[in-house]
Amino acid sequence: SLSDRLGTVFDRLRGRGALSEQDVRDAMREVRVALLEADVALPVARDFIARVTERAIGQEVLKSVTPGQMVVKIVNDELVAMLGGEEAVGKGPMGEGEALNLSVAPPAVVMMVGLQGSGKTTSTAKIAKLLKDKQGKKPLMASLDVNRPAAQEQLAVLGEQAGVATLPIVAGQQPVDIARRALGAAKLQNFDVLLLDTAGRLHVDEALMAEMKAVASVSTPAEVLLVVDSLTGQDAVNVAQSFSDEVPLTGVVLTRMDGDARGGAALSMRAVTGKPIKFAGTGEKLDAIERFHPARVADRILGMGDVVSLVERAAETIKAEDAEDLAKRMMAGKFDLNDLRKQLKQMQNMGGLGMLAGMMPGMKKAKAAMASSGMDDKVLVHMDAIIGSMTEKERARPELLNAKRKKRVAAGSGTSVQEVNKILKMHQEMGRAMKQIKKMGGLKGLGALLG
Ligand code: GDP
Ligand code: MG
Repeated sequence: SLSDRLGTVFDRLRGRGALSEQDVRDAMREVRVALLEADVALPVARDFIARVTERAIGQEVLKSVTPGQMVVKIVNDELVAMLGGEEAVGKGPMGEGEALNLSVAPPAVVMMVGLQGSGKTTSTAKIAKLLKDKQGKKPLMASLDVNRPAAQEQLAVLGEQAGVATLPIVAGQQPVDIARRALGAAKLQNFDVLLLDTAGRLHVDEALMAEMKAVASVSTPAEVLLVVDSLTGQDAVNVAQSFSDEVPLTGVVLTRMDGDARGGAALSMRAVTGKPIKFAGTGEKLDAIERFHPARVADRILGMGDVVSLVERAAETIKAEDAEDLAKRMMAGKFDLNDLRKQLKQMQNMGGLGMLAGMMPGMKKAKAAMASSGMDDKVLVHMDAIIGSMTEKERARPELLNAKRKKRVAAGSGTSVQEVNKILKMHQEMGRAMKQIKKMGGLKGLGALLG
């Protein structure tokens, strides 16, 4: 596996510090093999490696992981980003993030394009069913496939299974005419979405592209989805390039993700079209469709999920070590306003010491008070400004802050003396909390709490 290979590359490297250019280049040779094995198209793999190399050189290696593991984490993160980023995947049934954009005057036309056998007809029915069941839409489907015998009947059968209407079949009509008739029917019968299932060919050819262009120009689709078999592999680039040259693609549907494909086509599609992968087909049944998850696919490509979570855990450990350092400072009575400021910053970032803050009776109260009074991140920014307006001496020795100095700090930070007092009170409460912890058995007790 990639992890074994990288292990060998980095065996000689036991030192810590930053990743050197040579380390990274050696590692990238292995990553490249892994990408090609996962069927990522060659030019895409090359580009990807260049990006990762740039990011990785000079990167600090976390304590308790090896440089090889560090590289894998960087590769993974970049892969997820290039696949569209996990945060783009919405949480709703269709996903909010990059779901279909149907906010046009109805009927919103969704045109499905792709090679023969890629899964267009099946995906058309799957998406129509999703729209009907999860979004309360009233979709109409129409097959423009006049090449393959019984292609139009196939869609009609799926429509019946899905409970979605299909345009009645009229023998002898050409694709553009069917598209026009479908539009008319949709308008007349108040369908809000019209899905056009187009014909495919075994290979990209001029006749097919001309047909796609003509259909797009009469139907002005809101979405043009390129349907690609995830097993397409190296050919994915050519297919994606040809279609995206001729029709304005808005997204990709990757089918047969339930098979043994390693997901390389996903990276190629995204890189070549620059369009989001909106859905993944995961079986033949009509509900076997889901939002595309970059993190899951990145794991399929690299097969490195374990290493990625290992590095994430190591990063967590370091945060915990920071928290322990802070606790030590507090115990030694060295916790001053500089420390509080750092703590507030961490709270802003929602991680790290926030965990410790939640445990501290003083901070817990302060946090609850903030929440109940509708205080939010803006307040944290205010607090930061207040501490920032103090002199270094005042931060180290808050007792210096008399009424006159408080006034100056309030003016300097654009806040009020009342707010300055609030911060000082919070600091005092934390001090008191420390004493309580000391009574509970000091750092050992705290350690137990920290787990
Ligand atoms: P089209 O020629 O592009 O319209 O492709 P079809 O929709 O007719 O699909 C071709 C075959 O692939 C059919 O047997 C489908 O059941 C199957 N298929 C489509 N999508 C998927 C998928 O996500 N997973 C699996 N396992 N099979 C699929
Ligand atoms: Mg078909």
